[in-house]
Amino acid sequence: MVRRRRAEVNGRVQGVGFRPHVHRLATTLGLRGWVRNDAGGAVIDVEGDDASLDAFVDAFATTPLPPLARIDVIRWTDAVFAGAQEFTIVDATEHGSDRAADCGAGVRLDGLADAGPCDACTAEFDDPADRRFRYPFTCCTDCGPRLTIATGGPWARANTVMAGYELCVACKHEFSTPADRRFHAEAIACPDCGPILVHTGEVGATAGHQALDRLIDDVIAGGVAVVKGVGGHHLIGRADREDPVAAIRRIKGRDAKPMAVLVADVAAAHTLVELDAAATEALTDPGRNVVLAQRRDSGTVVDLVAGDQGDLGVVLPPSLLHLDLARAVGVPLVFTSANPSGAPTVVDDAAAATLAAHRDVTSLVTHDRSITARADDTVVRAMGGCCLTIRSGRGDAIAVRRSPHTAGRPVLAAGGHLKCTVSLAVGDHIHTSPHIGDLDHPAARDAWEHAVDSLIRSVGVEPELVVADRHPDYASAWWAQDLGIEVLTVQHHHAHAAAALVDADRRRPVVAVVLDGHGWGDDGTSWGGEILVVDADRSHRAAHLRPVALPGGVTAIREPWRMAVAWLCDDTPTACDVAATWDGDGTDVLEVCRWAVARGATTTSAGRLVDAIAAILGITGVNRYEGDAAMALESLATSDLACRLTPFDLDIADGEIDARPLVAQVVDCLRRGAPLAAIADAALAGIGRGFAKAAAGVASDEGIEHVVLSGGVLQNRVIDDVMCRELVAAGLTPHSHRSVPANDAGLSIGQAMIGAARG
Ligand SMILES: [Zn+2]
Ligand SMILES: [Zn+2]
Repeated sequence: MVRRRRAEVNGRVQGVGFRPHVHRLATTLGLRGWVRNDAGGAVIDVEGDDASLDAFVDAFATTPLPPLARIDVIRWTDAVFAGAQEFTIVDATEHGSDRAADCGAGVRLDGLADAGPCDACTAEFDDPADRRFRYPFTCCTDCGPRLTIATGGPWARANTVMAGYELCVACKHEFSTPADRRFHAEAIACPDCGPILVHTGEVGATAGHQALDRLIDDVIAGGVAVVKGVGGHHLIGRADREDPVAAIRRIKGRDAKPMAVLVADVAAAHTLVELDAAATEALTDPGRNVVLAQRRDSGTVVDLVAGDQGDLGVVLPPSLLHLDLARAVGVPLVFTSANPSGAPTVVDDAAAATLAAHRDVTSLVTHDRSITARADDTVVRAMGGCCLTIRSGRGDAIAVRRSPHTAGRPVLAAGGHLKCTVSLAVGDHIHTSPHIGDLDHPAARDAWEHAVDSLIRSVGVEPELVVADRHPDYASAWWAQDLGIEVLTVQHHHAHAAAALVDADRRRPVVAVVLDGHGWGDDGTSWGGEILVVDADRSHRAAHLRPVALPGGVTAIREPWRMAVAWLCDDTPTACDVAATWDGDGTDVLEVCRWAVARGATTTSAGRLVDAIAAILGITGVNRYEGDAAMALESLATSDLACRLTPFDLDIADGEIDARPLVAQVVDCLRRGAPLAAIADAALAGIGRGFAKAAAGVASDEGIEHVVLSGGVLQNRVIDDVMCRELVAAGLTPHSHRSVPANDAGLSIGQAMIGAARG
């Protein structure tokens, strides 16, 4: 008997060669009908006899999907027989968008991640006989740009900037031939019909192969190039020479922050950093993540790239242009977003031209394919056997995660202030934008609003509730108020804990250890060393680090020596006396301490405690960038230890975790001449052990077995490792962050979950 069946497919199925895959399966079995993308993923209508239809259903389970595709849910139903003549791939608009009505709870549109060059395209790029020889825009269904060239959904060439390039005869043939690798590869191009690469330098403009050659010559000679890449512009120069690295730092605004290096292949990456299996997998992911891993003493990367940090970020070429450059130059290249420090990544050509006018820039490489969505690199940190996401970017595009709580109405989450992302909770899922950046910069409002618009457009649902941080000075919270919809504010560390719940996919109450730099507390002071009990949309503070003075307010975040003063003394007036003897950078130390006393400014921040220890050990008195002192302290603690000290102690009583004994031990060991590395290790391990003990106490009082660990301080390998081991030893189950960032980049995900749970 001849019948018609319909499949609704949810998962990563758009823009990844899924429809051509379905077409091949259907035509091989002699079936007729169509496949198209829709707002929920893809829909397949297929007609044929029972045996062939059964074989088709089986084929889905047994035939490997295209490399970038993933099916989460497939639902088969019977449909009315229509007597189709052939099997076709049709536009999303044909056969009605009848699934729009029920896609509210099941929208999946996460196929739009950009992917680095596949092997087949690289082989064509390298083949002098191929018509795409050294054509950097070569791509296919298994690779190439997606989100960063999309103008709307669903995924079709008409909804990308490629709509402006009419396919040549050869490309059109590939695009319409089912057996071809480029069958319905929406972004395909060739030198005859696609975008053109242009190099502008001292000797004028060149295009095509010559543009590539000029770029390579300039970088080999030690120049600095602004290169229009995937999702934004980058600054690129040799990482093995001081001059280009120093020039890049000048362009970015005397920033000391470590920069990542681009290498041609995994073998080259192995010579620079220690890569275990998980780190190698993250490095070779099609999204081309920056992987932070323990540095090797190879000597090919100058210290100016990553300073004295023990980690170095490495990344593989995100496009064929970068691959060609990295191979031709043959040394690691600095690879950093082309923007003044703190500003969002430059995406438009005019801003790139302005940047390229800087006297330190020797090349500008651009092209006429516009970037529709800003996308930074995803950054992950190798944590010993697994990788922790530090920042979501290009490879994740719009990341979709399951929410432990179902949203009764669409919820927008405005994020925090630093490393901001925004999220949208719809039904059982939370959709998260790529990294937006810090919101201090004047250009940040545009970037934030663009990210919100792009998220709403991609998911196709308007939010009815917006969740924001309670901090009165967070720009994201002000902008959320301006949206004209209901606003819910949530406490910063509650949002961190909720982000960890999403990562662990847990619904039940947990104890949360949240250690971070700074968040607005319910009492109006700065929090950041918190043990909370969290249940769905509620949380209460069960214990916290002993509050100490915050001499100079936010200035103390940049200047760890101030926190050393605060922790070295029992009370703030004494801190003032000690501070008076310190030689700050021309600051009136006594004055800032008096100010702190007058204002009663205190903090329970674990990040500030770590800063204080770094300052007491003389490692860093002033932070050159966020996390400077903390990373330097960790590098020291994880260097080769000649001897190891017992972890220092924290006192825990009545919900207060007192670090004064730990600080006293640091000072004592320092006086007795113990090695700095051993002291750093014992101090960090002590923080991990002390908070684990406090969390275990709360867990036992509450009858809870699961503990989530969140906040930027838990990106510290020593603290995270010790805390997990201690919690396991206490019979508890710890959950560290993995795919959701533990730092403020994960805040919007937690806010979205709280909004969903609140309903
Ligand atoms: Zn390809
Ligand atoms: Zn063509």
